Order: sequence, then C-alpha cells, then structure tokens
Amino acid sequence: AASAQRPEEVIQRYMEVVAGVPDEDCIICMDQLSNPSGYETASSEEGGQSTLPDTVGKFIKCGHTLHMLCMLAMYNNGTKDGSLQCPSCKTIYGEKTGTQPKGKMEIYSIAQSLPGHPDCGTIQIIYSIPPGLQGPEHPNPGQPFTCRGFPRFCFLPDNDKGRKVLELLKVAWMRRLIFTVGTSSTTGEPDTVVWNGIHHKTEMMSNLSGHGYPDPNYLDNVLSELASQGVTEDCLKP
Ligand code: NAD
Ligand code: ZN
Ligand code: ZN
Repeated sequence: AASAQRPEEVIQRYMEVVAGVPDEDCIICMDQLSNPSGYETASSEEGGQSTLPDTVGKFIKCGHTLHMLCMLAMYNNGTKDGSLQCPSCKTIYGEKTGTQPKGKMEIYSIAQSLPGHPDCGTIQIIYSIPPGLQGPEHPNPGQPFTCRGFPRFCFLPDNDKGRKVLELLKVAWMRRLIFTVGTSSTTGEPDTVVWNGIHHKTEMMSNLSGHGYPDPNYLDNVLSELASQGVTEDCLKP
C-alpha cells in the first residue's frame, strides 16, 4: 500500500541530517562518512535528480549514522514498501512487508493437548497457497512458482502466549511475511514457496522433522523471529 511513496521521502521520514560528521565508516559502503557516498554517481546516472543531499543521515530512533545515498541505494534494491531497516542494529522503521503470494490462512481449535502443554488444547493453522506466476517482487518475474506440501498444517498451544503468537502471525500473514518465493533449502528446488524465517511447528504429536513438540523455547523463539520482521505486541494495540 505504501509503495507509491517516493524513495527519497521514505528516507527523509526516518533519517535526519547530522551536522557534525562522526569519524566513522559507513556500514553500507565501508568508506569514511566524511567521504561522499559511493552511490552518488550511480543515482544521478539513472536520470532522476535525487532531491536527497549527499550527506550523512542519522536514524531517528536508534541513532545509527550512514550515508543517506547509501541507504537510498539499499532501499531501491529491496521491496520498496515504504519501510526501512537500520543495517547496523536491524531496527525497523514503518511497516515491513514481504513477498508472500496470495493464499488463505485458516484457524481451527483442537481439544487434544500438545506434548509439553498438557493443560490446554491446540490451535491449528492451515496455510493454503496455490501455484501461480511470480510478480515483479519475486526472483524470476513472469515465471511460474510451485507450492510443495500445501496445505501446511501448523500447531500452537491454546494458552495466553500461544494466542498472542497467533495474533502476531495473523499480522505477519497480512504483511506477506510468512512465506516467500525462492529456493527451498531442504529440497533445492528453485521458484517455489518457502518459509520466510518465522518458524512454525508442523507436527502435532510427533517430532520427526525437528519441527514438532515438545519444545519449551518455541514460543519465545517465534516471538523474537516475529520481532525481527517488525511484528511486535505494539502491532496489536488499537
Ligand atoms: P526451506 O527448506 O527453504 O526452509 C526454510 C525454513 O523452514 C528453515 O528455517 C527450516 O528450518 C524450516 N523448515 C524446514 N522444514 C520444515 C518443516 N517440515 N516444518 C516447519 N519448518 C520447516 O523451506 P520449505 O521448502 O518451505 O520447507 C521445507 C520442506 O518441508 C519442503 O520440502 C516442504 O514441502 C516440507 N513441508 C511440508 C509440510 C507438510 O505439511 N507436508 C509442511 C511444511 C514443510
Ligand atoms: Zn556509504
Ligand atoms: Zn540502528
């Protein structure tokens, strides 16, 4: 939705010009901040008169400094969704979105308990994604992508923490962050729908793949994976 914004405006929303240039290197181009950005020529060659000055910028929350034009180049290389991620500390500014293809997320409740969670029932998530054609945001636009092992069944304990994870997974789904199109690290198949770094438990009563229960750390791990994609409890506040 935010993709209509001009890249320069996105940079200026989350970075401010610093007056005194620190005696440090830019984490993107590795050159000194007091030298111009290595991307200066590249951006002016593209014909766009960049309104962004070749200055050093500072992120408004985390305070990390780097060449504004280097950050612009990094933004233009990504999905251009109106969000920025500090390359030093990974703080996300705005709403990060992904490249998950269209599909369906369904939620069911199961009375049976998961191993390690004897005091509650189980939440079942079913993800369905049909095969289709890759969009401009995918590795090979216009080419087909495949969908292996769909629908994928996933399980959470139906307790307070599990339900919180579920709500955050719904946010991640809406932001297209649960799956992406790429090469499966398990099968090596390219141009297929794969998990995108937010781990799911796909076995309910067994643990043959290692993606099953019991796993006492699972809910905390998935909360930190969600947070690294910018999906936190703040997203659930009205
Ligand atoms: P991938 O192999 O590129 O791996 C990406 C991430 O998914 C990794 O972090 C990995 O640890 C995790 N992952 C791998 N296997 C998983 C599993 N069985 N359950 C949960 N997480 C898993 O990702 P991918 O290609 O999307 O999935 C790996 C394989 O698992 C694929 O061959 C897929 O068909 C199969 N799979 C099947 C089902 C099913 O319900 N039949 C569900 C999930 C995955
Ligand atoms: Zn730089
Ligand atoms: Zn930072």
